[in-house]
Amino acid sequence: MQVLNSGFVRLVESMGGDSAVIRNARRCWRSEAKTENADRQLLRHLLKAGHKTPFEAMVFTFDVKTPLFVARQWFRHRIGSYNEESLRYCIALRDYFIPEGLEGDVLDAWIRHNETAFDFYEELVSGNGAAKMVKEQARSILPIGIYTNFYWTVNGSALMNFLQLRLDRHAQYEIRCYAEAILELVKDVAPISFGEFEREVLNIGG
Ligand SMILES: Cc1cc2nc3c(=O)[nH]c(=O)nc-3n(C[C@H](O)[C@H](O)[C@H](O)COP(=O)(O)OP(=O)(O)OC[C@H]3O[C@@H](n4cnc5c(N)ncnc54)[C@H](O)[C@@H]3O)c2cc1C
Repeated sequence: MQVLNSGFVRLVESMGGDSAVIRNARRCWRSEAKTENADRQLLRHLLKAGHKTPFEAMVFTFDVKTPLFVARQWFRHRIGSYNEESLRYCIALRDYFIPEGLEGDVLDAWIRHNETAFDFYEELVSGNGAAKMVKEQARSILPIGIYTNFYWTVNGSALMNFLQLRLDRHAQYEIRCYAEAILELVKDVAPISFGEFEREVLNIGG
């Protein structure tokens, strides 16, 4: 799913889903999955009561491309695993954030500043026209709007915490765009869990 001018979020794989959450939750009562309505009521009850552990039975891996300043906020969510491309080992791609609605002279200046930073970075890492520098040092000349790419593996409970915080109107608009895309992706995989989460926790719909 495309996000911002050059980013995306993609669901790579998932494990579990609603059936795993229901199975784990019903262990408490020594029972099995029942009708869809009864299972939905159960998950609603769990969310209201803050009984979150059963939601850890589902796990998602996302492929995320986002500006560094968004990744920095994202990585504060410690319950989850990250593997990010390294600018010690890889050359930075000429790919940077452009805010929505930017136009005219400001847009031109925005692009010029980014392009100038990349020109100098490429000079440094290639050694053409400037002293050759290792990638891990040269990268520090680049702006924090450059895009990075990482895999994020997270369980359903930690993901709900992320979504609750990052869909809130106090969260920065750019990370909210990713949270909105992720909510749509996981509703396809676990419609009861995230449908009830949306209704009971985010108070949207229903
Ligand atoms: C709008 C907004 C503004 C923010 N502004 C700032 C800011 O200015 N500066 C800044 O530094 N951060 C800021 N943050 C980051 C924020 O403080 C959290 O670090 C971030 O949202 C991750 O939340 P979390 O700890 O719940 O998530 P996770 O790290 O994924 O943790 C999930 C849950 O696990 C538990 N947990 C995890 N680690 C511990 C631990 N060590 N001890 C106890 N319980 C733990 C907690 O219950 C936690 O809620 C901001 C966040 C938001 C949403």
